[in-house]
Amino acid sequence: MTVIASTAGESVPAPAHALPGISSADRVAVDAALAELGQPRYRAGQLADAVWRSPASSWDEVTTFTKELRLELAHRFRFDTVAETEIRPADGGLTEKALHRLVDGQLVESVLMRYPGREGRRERHTLCISSQAGCAVGCPFCATGELGYGRDLAVAEIVDQVRHAARRLATRSAHLTNLVFMGMGEPLLVLDEVLAAASILTDPARFGLGARHLAISTSGVVPGIERLTALRPQWTLAVSLHAARDPLRDLLVPLNRRWPVAAVVAAASAYQAATGRRVSYEYVLIDGINDTAADAAALVRLLEGRGSHLNLIPMNPVAHTPWQASPPERVRAFATRVATAGIGVTVRQNRGQEVGAACGQLAAERTGEPSAASVAGRQSRLVAASAAALRSVEPRAAFRSVGTGAPRAPRPAGRGGERGMSPRRTG
Ligand code: SAH
Ligand code: SF4
Repeated sequence: MTVIASTAGESVPAPAHALPGISSADRVAVDAALAELGQPRYRAGQLADAVWRSPASSWDEVTTFTKELRLELAHRFRFDTVAETEIRPADGGLTEKALHRLVDGQLVESVLMRYPGREGRRERHTLCISSQAGCAVGCPFCATGELGYGRDLAVAEIVDQVRHAARRLATRSAHLTNLVFMGMGEPLLVLDEVLAAASILTDPARFGLGARHLAISTSGVVPGIERLTALRPQWTLAVSLHAARDPLRDLLVPLNRRWPVAAVVAAASAYQAATGRRVSYEYVLIDGINDTAADAAALVRLLEGRGSHLNLIPMNPVAHTPWQASPPERVRAFATRVATAGIGVTVRQNRGQEVGAACGQLAAERTGEPSAASVAGRQSRLVAASAAALRSVEPRAAFRSVGTGAPRAPRPAGRGGERGMSPRRTG
């Protein structure tokens, strides 16, 4: 049994929230627990079936085991590290956003997207999962950046978002085909946990997802990309660019101050060369901020000849941000400029806008509104910062509008930002 030392020195059973999740328990830990309980070895197989292949969502529902055994196991492992899940459907049922409350009250999101089969392609179900509660990087157009850093997720908390979605899909006789680390958090700042979760999820004896069906998105943690390159996984690497020139990217992706855009793209190209997997770049188009002809030209200079793919995403509206999506004609013009230079480009539509599909939006909504004064303060700081950034990338930009509406300032340096920028655990 998992025990903790009490202040009086004696051992007492661990409280439920301190127990390890069963989904991250390895075979040695499971065998040891079953042996301690005097159970035959074949129980390990039954346990794996209950965790990975049954509709059970709690120990109570594992009816292959006696009530006593279920109780004993519940003293050692949490069946589910997610305490509560709220589901919000959108896009006529094609998108399903899940807001998960973890046992300590932290909120994280996952989004399940169905892509109907067409032109000979089979139907796909893609799940977007979170690796952290909140995010320390603080991109000012992102709802998770707005939330700030909460904490890193444990391996089981990452895996259990997937088990949740898989159980929901199973009730519709469907299964998960693709998994993307594009929810809340910066996965390459929690790489140990992400690698451990990926190894569980791609283990044929456990979740069994093909490694080629897994994608990871980073805002540009160079040592993390290098570590992945050395491991040569068969995953798709997506890099969130959003600007090709340092002064503007310093503002949009504050991690750029530590790892400038050229170093990020060089590391991503090395990943592509080592793994043979095409890197994709994400570029959120923000009206009047990063969507000009000069931005497209800078992007072409950066990506030309690299054989990578560009996804253009009109910005999803986020509360307290002054910015909006670029209008459709500017999106088209930007895409045409890039495509003309021979770079593969796709314009993506954000899924589930009516339920707040941009990462972290639902969780941000739940954590309460900041005061009007603090919103106004952020707004003016962000307008000043974006005007300064635009002046330095393109002098004439000082004379053009940088967006209207309610502006929001970037998170002040230091509120989690410094932590996010340290190459912690990324070698
Ligand atoms: N932190 C990692 C992975 C999670 S963010 C990263 O930044 O890559 C996943 C994607 O959602 C990123 O490409 C991010 O830029 C995008 N995103 C965040 N806020 C958005 C918004 N308001 N509109 C559109 N895309 C957004
Ligand atoms: Fe963090 Fe990614 Fe959001 Fe930036 S876009 S704040 S890196 S989750």
